[in-house]
Formats: sequence, structure tokens, C-alpha cells
Amino acid sequence: MQSGKLIVLTGPSGVGKGTLLSSLLERHPELVLSISVTTRSPRQGEVEGKSYFFVDRDKFQQMIETEELLEWAEYAGNFYGTPTLPVIENIKQGKSVILEIELQGARQIQNTFPDALRIFILPPSTAELEERLRKRGQDSQEAIAKRLKRATEELEAATEFDIQLVNDNFEDALQNLEAILFNFRE
Ligand code: 5GP
Repeated sequence: MQSGKLIVLTGPSGVGKGTLLSSLLERHPELVLSISVTTRSPRQGEVEGKSYFFVDRDKFQQMIETEELLEWAEYAGNFYGTPTLPVIENIKQGKSVILEIELQGARQIQNTFPDALRIFILPPSTAELEERLRKRGQDSQEAIAKRLKRATEELEAATEFDIQLVNDNFEDALQNLEAILFNFRE
């Protein structure tokens, strides 16, 4: 297995990226998850420095200006970005780093890191995605509506990615993801 790769995981909100990722990281602790910076308020149970680095808009703006972010995007009214330094340092140390980011950010990475492996996670259907988002119960009706609108736009871009993976059955999706990463890193 080769290491020191950048892996980008993208997919609409509610597709189950987070759950897939936590299982993947549990099984492969050698993989490093990049912790993003966001202006979104923490959800219940989210931990500063583990889920995200939660910052205000001024701080986020400052990070853009001082070029501390590898990529950043506005999503459903909030800003999200990847701190550059930890990504570069881990890759230099030969570790593989995973970014769990939305479409605009993934497109930026394609320009800056053309060798990155970009994976798009698809829901079995849009109806299923909507149901998952509503069931999750973490967001307001307004936020859900924004996320659904964005999801439709993102789904249209799935073919831009190196790999499309359908998250229908969780175990299958996880195994497929492992197979993709294993083959990629071999
Ligand atoms: P959530 O608010 O549900 O945690 O995340 C909303 C969206 O922002 C998700 O699609 C997630 O992948 C994306 N996201 C999280 N961190 C980053 C980041 O650093 N950069 C970009 N471009 N998107 C991110």
C-alpha cells in the first residue's frame, strides 16, 4: 500500500458520509481525517476540534485572507473550509488524509491537488435522501429545504468525480469504500 494520498469524499447532506467515515476511520486508524473550520453553530454532541473548529465569520474571513485554507465554500448559509497546514504535514509524513467536503471545495481540490482521489457518495434515490434528512431531525425546516436544494445541484455533478458510490446498504457501501481505497493506495 502506498500512503500520503489525499482522498476527497463528497455527497449531499444526509447521504450518510459521516457514518461511513467514522466506521472507516475506526477500522483504519492510520487514515487521517481533516478537521474543517466552520461558521455553523455546533449541533448537539459536536465537539470543538473533533467535529469542526467552530469560528465566527470574522475569524473565517481572516483565515481566507491569510491563505490558511486549502479550499473553502459557502453551504446553506454557513462557511466551511479546510485548514491547509495539517493536510500538508500529514501527507508529507506519508499519511493519507481524508477531506469530507461539499462540491465547490472538491472542485477547488481538483485544481490544487489533481492527484487526489475524489469519491462521490450517492443516495439510492432523492426521495430516500429527503427522508433521511428529515428523520435526522438535526436541522430546522428551512435548513432542510436549503440542503435539499443544494443536494439536487450536487447530484448532477456526481460524474465529475473519479468514483461514484451508492450508499444503499451501509455494510456494502463501507466494504466498497474500503475496496476503492485499498486499490487506489496499492
Ligand atoms: P454539515 O453542516 O452537515 O456538517 O456540513 C454541510 C456540508 O459542508 C457537508 O456537505 C460537508 O461535507 C461540507 N463541509 C464540511 N467541511 C467542509 C470544508 O472544510 N470545506 C467544504 N468545502 N465543505 C465542507
